[in-house]
Amino acid sequence: MALVDLDAVEHNVEVVRRAVGPAAVMAVVKADAYGHGLVPVARAALAGGATWLGVAHVHEALALRGAGVEADVLAWILTPGTDLLPAVRAGIDVSVSAVWALESLVAAARATGRCARVHLEVDTGMSRGGASPAEWPALLDAVAKHVDAGDVVVRGTWAHFASADVAGDPSVPAQLQAFEAALRTAREHGVDPGLRHHANSAAAFFVPQARYDLVRAGLAVYGLSPAPERATAAELGLRPAMTLAARLAHVRRVPAGAGVSYGLTYTAQADTTLGLVPVGYGDGVPRHASWDGRRSGEVLVAGARRRIAGRVCMDQVVVDLGDDAAEAGDLAVVFGPGEAGEATADDWAAAAGTISWEIVTRIGSRVPRVHTGRAAGRGA
Ligand SMILES: *Cc1c(COP(=O)(O)O)cnc(C)c1O
Repeated sequence: MALVDLDAVEHNVEVVRRAVGPAAVMAVVKADAYGHGLVPVARAALAGGATWLGVAHVHEALALRGAGVEADVLAWILTPGTDLLPAVRAGIDVSVSAVWALESLVAAARATGRCARVHLEVDTGMSRGGASPAEWPALLDAVAKHVDAGDVVVRGTWAHFASADVAGDPSVPAQLQAFEAALRTAREHGVDPGLRHHANSAAAFFVPQARYDLVRAGLAVYGLSPAPERATAAELGLRPAMTLAARLAHVRRVPAGAGVSYGLTYTAQADTTLGLVPVGYGDGVPRHASWDGRRSGEVLVAGARRRIAGRVCMDQVVVDLGDDAAEAGDLAVVFGPGEAGEATADDWAAAAGTISWEIVTRIGSRVPRVHTGRAAGRGA
């Protein structure tokens, strides 16, 4: 099961809010709140002082509305053919970075008789989403026309960093400079940019000039550091919200020389006890964190962190307990805040060659979420 501490979520949002004030906080709850559970996390984040929620897709924003969440929500990925009527009706803010997207939003606004709320995304150097500097003026002209006609209101103008986690990276000031230029161009084209936002979690903490009116904090809301080598979660005052735990399904002794798991890539060096932990890559435990002859992800069992014996399977992993006693039913903690000696999402990210964002977000739908904390009583 994945235990999600909603008090930690609330606390983390307060920490971000204090760090970035007077800028406001958008809690990013895309991808089922990075695997933590969309609606309970959204409510906890709002209780912690977030005034905006951010998601990638319109359907994620509609799921929030469907659960009765009325706060401002921004959805920032649009594809041609997306039905925008429900979004406009539900008062969802939608990001556009191209004229075709603006026109489809305007069509939805006219069909509903309502004014559509738009954020303009401009590319400041990451070359992912956003209007390019060449496309920006034409988008602005179209926006100005539709604002005058009363079909859309510009609520924000934004961009995204490529490397805000890297200390001293020259792309950070370069992106800020490009953003300033884009804001100037907007005003020159008669467009009020509304709320300006460029910062993710890393920039919220490490790039004060990037905070503008609003920061879009994702990872920090979940209590993880966007740059553990610069500042750990604890140093930032954050509390990891998710603990992944399971009960041992089987415990057995094997003799020295026994091979373990698919491919028999792990060999017991001496007589040893093996514990079976019933979570695997089907639950989001990364197979890349299998034992590679030097290291693996580690699971806390019977008071110590245990290496994974061999490969991570779809539904289970085997851990090597040595001569320590354990029995079926004992608690195994895959990762958590680290306070009881368990590995953290950062440790698993290192073992799997990835980032902590991916470790928590990929915990699958098969794993029951159990929400705890005062905020859990607010109704999900
Ligand atoms: C996911 C995302 C964020 C949040 O990033 P973190 O590094 O998790 O804080 C912010 N803005 C956009 C556009 C995103 O896609």
